[in-house]
Amino acid sequence: MGFTCGIIGLPNVGKSTIFNALTSAKAQAANFPFCTIEPNTGAVAVPDPRLQILADAAKSEKIIPTQITFVDIAGLIRGASKGEGLGNQFLGHIRSVDAVAHVVRCFDDENVVHVDGKVDPLSDIDTIETELMLADLDAVQKQMQKIEKLAKSGDKDAKLQMEVLVEIDALLSKGEPASSLDQSSEVRKAAISNLLSAKPVMFVANVAEEDLVGQQSPALLALKEFAAKRSSDVVVICGKVESEIAELPLAERADYLEALGLPCSGLDLMAIAGYKLLKLRTYFTVGPKETHAWTVIGGTKGPQAAGVIHSDFERGYIRAEVIGYEDFIREGGELKAKEAGKLRVEGKEYEVLDGDIMHFRFNV
Ligand code: GDP
Repeated sequence: MGFTCGIIGLPNVGKSTIFNALTSAKAQAANFPFCTIEPNTGAVAVPDPRLQILADAAKSEKIIPTQITFVDIAGLIRGASKGEGLGNQFLGHIRSVDAVAHVVRCFDDENVVHVDGKVDPLSDIDTIETELMLADLDAVQKQMQKIEKLAKSGDKDAKLQMEVLVEIDALLSKGEPASSLDQSSEVRKAAISNLLSAKPVMFVANVAEEDLVGQQSPALLALKEFAAKRSSDVVVICGKVESEIAELPLAERADYLEALGLPCSGLDLMAIAGYKLLKLRTYFTVGPKETHAWTVIGGTKGPQAAGVIHSDFERGYIRAEVIGYEDFIREGGELKAKEAGKLRVEGKEYEVLDGDIMHFRFNV
């Protein structure tokens, strides 16, 4: 499935509306809590202007963008960590995603019920995050009980693990997410790897159409200020507008966006933000048949990057021939870049950079 970003938020904030527009899928979007019972999954193309430029340079017949997977996760209410609503199911689904897109309602609409009766982004975020932290607290305490005996018996690893768990317990008890733990060692990283409040988060502000451009509502400003303190991104989107755009034929979308004064759709912004949140990088394979974008996580080496295309490429990896994107474009394509000495031959330890144009050499 690749890298996944779970869409979470209180009921009726617009998750399904946004998800449907994202995938142009036909999941329900109804004005009542819990209409999203099972998580819906959809892969979304990540917009990347470099693709068209590369394809033009190489006269490729087609373009294949890379994708990011979004999972629409059912509504959460206060008490979910204790099994309220779809509590445990919801929490289990969050556990399985790599990152979280937290949708926050910033639009007023008397026809759409707010579960707490008012539009208040910070209080909504607090409700969700409290549930995640309570669930984590429960998991941490269970883990502590499990290793208590061993730690007391003097087992070094168990003792170390216990010290970290005690620290996480203290953070969560203060209302701080597990992501705020100092992650300077492998033990520390491992201790939070399964915790919900350790997932990378971006906020998606679902605003009224009139707040998309120009003036920003107090609700949106409050959300932005909150996110800035966390160094989290806020993607501003209007679920209603996005669902209108999603229904238009592709050729008409750009004009519609322009008429609204928007440079691109909110969903494009969401895909890009999700990609950034997951610290993903894109490399390209470019030829007359196709220009193809591939996704790797930051730090991936040549053989593993090749393995994204096919496991045989990884197994038989010999070397990669690499041209950086800027060089490729500046020199006017592969041949010319090669003549200009811009093609590098890289071995098994090469860390793939964003924008690399790669040719893999491998034994079959
Ligand atoms: P979910 O429970 O978070 O998945 O919320 P839904 O996507 O089902 O949306 C709940 C209700 O809010 C539906 O009636 C939507 O049509 C409505 N809604 C979603 N986004 C917007 C928006 O941007 N503006 C307005 N006015 N209504 C919206």
